[in-house]
Amino acid sequence: MNNQVKLDLDHFRAILQDRKEELLHFLAENSEGAKTVELDQTRVGRLSRMDALQNQEMAKETNRRRQAELQRIEAAFQRIEDGEFGECANCGEDIAIKRLELDPAVIVCINCAS
Ligand SMILES: [Zn+2]
Repeated sequence: MNNQVKLDLDHFRAILQDRKEELLHFLAENSEGAKTVELDQTRVGRLSRMDALQNQEMAKETNRRRQAELQRIEAAFQRIEDGEFGECANCGEDIAIKRLELDPAVIVCINCAS
């Protein structure tokens, strides 16, 4: 059973591109937000300062996750180029189209993921 022939690569490329642009947008916005927090720290009390620092940590963590997802997306683009998209990186079986629709950046089939 080979679903590669049925895979609409342009469709998945479009999903990945949308997601990538969304992530880049969030990343740009988030770094500006972190700057604003730093400026505010000079004129807020100690408690709000702690809040600000905590928010900054959360923003950093969110950024890290977004960077990681961006890398997964770049890797998915690479697999499309290499003709490996939709193939399980572990067992080589086809990944179910439904699974790819949910997350085109997945690299293993449902059996290998569980
Ligand atoms: Zn597998």
